[in-house]
Amino acid sequence: MKDCIFCKIVEKEIPTEILLENEFFIAFNDINPKAQIHVLIIPKKHFQDISDIEGNILGELPEFLKELSRKLGVEDSGYRLITNKGKDAGQIIFHLHFHLLAGNDLGDLI
Ligand code: 5GP
Ligand code: ZN
Repeated sequence: MKDCIFCKIVEKEIPTEILLENEFFIAFNDINPKAQIHVLIIPKKHFQDISDIEGNILGELPEFLKELSRKLGVEDSGYRLITNKGKDAGQIIFHLHFHLLAGNDLGDLI
């Protein structure tokens, strides 16, 4: 979608180090990390947020998560996955994304 910064990352118009990519998703480090490991997972297709999804993209997520968590070395230690929708949740980028947070500094919020 025009003027969407994450679409520009998908299209490689904004150079970003891609940690993992498949047919459906790409993963890259958050520019402003909130945990030791803070990776963003985004569908290549533009959806505004979690409630905007059409099709079965979420069914493709577990396989991607497995491979990504293995690559990040957190498959066994674990991670937290968060997605924000709307103003009160603090969504600032309106291209669906999941925050994968990992490390021993996650705290106990949620
Ligand atoms: P939201 O609050 O919308 O769920 O989170 C958006 C996230 O995207 C924030 O954590 C922010 O740091 C990150 N972000 C915003 N712009 C960029 C960018 O251009 N590159 C990267 N790697 N992360 C970004
Ligand atoms: Zn987009």
